[in-house]
Amino acid sequence: MTVKFNIIFIERTIPRDSRLDELRYWCQEFQRLNLTPRYQNRSLGNLSFRLNQDEDDFMITASALEVKDSLSDDSFVIVHSYDAESSTIRASGTREPSSESVLHFGVYAARRDTNAVFHGHSGRIIRASDALGLTTTTKFEDYGSLELATSVLDVLDDQSFIVMKKHGFLSLGQTMKEAGTLAIEIYERARSCESAEKENHRA
Ligand SMILES: [Zn+2]
Repeated sequence: MTVKFNIIFIERTIPRDSRLDELRYWCQEFQRLNLTPRYQNRSLGNLSFRLNQDEDDFMITASALEVKDSLSDDSFVIVHSYDAESSTIRASGTREPSSESVLHFGVYAARRDTNAVFHGHSGRIIRASDALGLTTTTKFEDYGSLELATSVLDVLDDQSFIVMKKHGFLSLGQTMKEAGTLAIEIYERARSCESAEKENHRA
């Protein structure tokens, strides 16, 4: 997964923030529940939190995080801004920000009430999306593209959970805890849905 935008680094230092421990915790939870599944030893998904209430800057997982990464502080990067015209992200950190930084940026800009955006992949949630009545984007868009961000913003409204067609999901919260627990709750509901369906087939 290579990033599809230009990056201008403002500072090439490892970010420091007391909230990194909580972000690390949720990265580990998502890995444990397979919500950011392994693909070629990379962890598919990206998690972020807004740095300051009235600003768009956010902290996000670095691009191409390896599953064995210890998630030390250099696994996280600050995104300051995104300019669509030049397709350029301004960032601070020692690694490249997640390939889905454009998507996270769009959500923070559109939703002042949102301070955490967690993106994961789960076939189980996608399969159950109709049964659970989850809001879904209308068509598949390529990862990391501005079109993907637009397809999410088109249906986002005031929702906290969006399924990205044939791709994955986005869970939003005022806090990381909200975004994380919502994703786990929906994952559990998708799992019950699946077992109920199996029962029906047997009956
Ligand atoms: Zn994805």
